[in-house]
Amino acid sequence: MILQAENVIKRYQNQLALDYFSMSINEGEVIGLLGPNGAGKTTFIKTLIGLLSIDEGEINVFGIKQDGKNKDIRRQIGYVTQEITIYEEMTAKENLAFFGSLYGLKKEKLDRRILEVAEIIGLKDKLNQKAGHFSGGMKRRLNIGCALLHEPKLLILDEPTVGIDPQSRNYILEFVRKAHETGMTILYTSHYIEEVEAVASRVLIMDQGHPIAEGTLRELIERIKGDSHLLIDVRIGSEEVREKLQALPDVKEVALNDNQYHVIVPGGVIVIDRIIPILSSQGIVNINSKQPNLEDVFLTLTGKQLRDEV
Ligand code: ATP
Repeated sequence: MILQAENVIKRYQNQLALDYFSMSINEGEVIGLLGPNGAGKTTFIKTLIGLLSIDEGEINVFGIKQDGKNKDIRRQIGYVTQEITIYEEMTAKENLAFFGSLYGLKKEKLDRRILEVAEIIGLKDKLNQKAGHFSGGMKRRLNIGCALLHEPKLLILDEPTVGIDPQSRNYILEFVRKAHETGMTILYTSHYIEEVEAVASRVLIMDQGHPIAEGTLRELIERIKGDSHLLIDVRIGSEEVREKLQALPDVKEVALNDNQYHVIVPGGVIVIDRIIPILSSQGIVNINSKQPNLEDVFLTLTGKQLRDEV
């Protein structure tokens, strides 16, 4: 067991950021921690690393109780923060050497690891270039490299693809997949469902500081499999009409995203006859049904769309 967190409570003054939050991570898994902005993902990471103290509950990392004092825990974790933390005026190699030395790597091993890591992050040809001249995606890759030098037992990537180009994003997702194959344990937080679907072997969905569902992608989708999902495009959607649809008997959830209503009903229930009269004044453009995905799991369990808050 890499991590075991039980009923963790964390408050910032009056703001409850973690509310009886529990989760575990097993060796060798890529766990996707999915939640909207403000759900408490970064707060949880900081408590597990020991950067923030907790108010109640218990966290054990690598079998050691996290009280913020044990340096052995921190030494075995690679943490890639949401903000890119590299030195722009230094070359890629100097950055890697600097972060490697912080982890206590000495000359020979450091030189070897710099080359290995540069290969992994695809920056072997750019080692002598200043980081400040890199694109956002290359800086992020270098940032990940800096967290890999000491061969951590647990790698934490906190929203690693925010604000970077699609090519680097794919590179990072591919890196996570390959790292998983080599047995690395990774905690990957994101509010992008497709990413979590693509890389995670297990997913934990959290909202408002609390875990709301956990399992493999297949298990989570299985939970809502009985439901039917209708996507109805109209010319102009409105919150008032969304509420009318929501009030229909048998309708579980309705979300409005731009001019598309997403209606969830229990499988087998026919609601379309009742929906059409309500929407007729809005100009129906298209009606589709779709297979459920993680977004639907979140919507069914919370009544909210993840993307609303992005
Ligand atoms: P994001 O994806 O936006 O980083 P998150 O899921 O990581 O979101 P946190 O950053 O952990 O969420 O925030 C959880 C809650 O705690 C939010 O309501 C946030 O406003 C609040 N919060 C976070 N840091 C602080 C702080 N230093 N002081 C007060 N409140 C804070």
